[in-house]
Amino acid sequence: MSYPVGSTMLLPASALEALELALARLTPVEVLRAVWAAFGARAAILSSMQRAGTALCHEAAGAGLALDVVFVDTGVLHAETLATRDALAARHPQLRVVTLKPSETFAEQTRKQGLLYLSKEGQERCCEARKAAPLEQIRGRYDVLIGALRRDEGGRRAKTRFIDVDPALGGLRVHPYAARSREDLDAYITAHPDVVVNPLHAMGFPTIGCFPCTTPVRPDEDDRAGRWRHLADVAYCGINPSDLAKDEPAAEVSSACVQSLGRLAKDLGAVVPVAGIE
Ligand code: SF4
Repeated sequence: MSYPVGSTMLLPASALEALELALARLTPVEVLRAVWAAFGARAAILSSMQRAGTALCHEAAGAGLALDVVFVDTGVLHAETLATRDALAARHPQLRVVTLKPSETFAEQTRKQGLLYLSKEGQERCCEARKAAPLEQIRGRYDVLIGALRRDEGGRRAKTRFIDVDPALGGLRVHPYAARSREDLDAYITAHPDVVVNPLHAMGFPTIGCFPCTTPVRPDEDDRAGRWRHLADVAYCGINPSDLAKDEPAAEVSSACVQSLGRLAKDLGAVVPVAGIE
């Protein structure tokens, strides 16, 4: 059975189990190559210019993959992060950096709604407007966003899958670094001194986000302790749907995405038990 061009189907994450196992057997660069072979320019890296993301870009560029790199500029990022974005574009000219921005500046938003990030409810609205809404601009442009989430970041990320659904954007997420430890990442960056690294990491920021909501972290704290330190229990940043706890996630994906997923499954010898692929 094939799906007419332009149609969609509901793809549950549970249908991706065999692909998950197949991808888990590959190295990160092999995952990148497999996704590129199946999805081509319908795949893009999603990076906030932290070191795992820029290392992933280094791996993609080294493999000769001309992936777009999607970056959300919330308008309240550190100057170092914007400089890292520019350095990455210059270092890897074959990767096209696509910068997305919110519709309002932070000052305009604050004039109308106040300093949202100071309360839990306000933070959700702020992240929605400054991260999730800009990402919506690429809905339909890509079938896969490739991120650099790692299980050893802890919290919800301990459950990061190599391949997952993206219900918000109607596509897939792939995480080639799901099983990569902090030590693995350190070793990769040490072995490849041309990886562009955000200088904030050397200033005590293991993870980096908007400057109003990011602080340095003490050695005895979790890496993500510096995110929304002023608020309790913020887990969702508006960018990564796997940070949201959902029992049975599913995404409405396009026929083109289904076809590419079928190619990926065939290339890896995996079965995806949904009509049109199996
Ligand atoms: S991280 Fe903070 S400043 Fe950035 S979008 Fe979210 S609430 Fe707003």
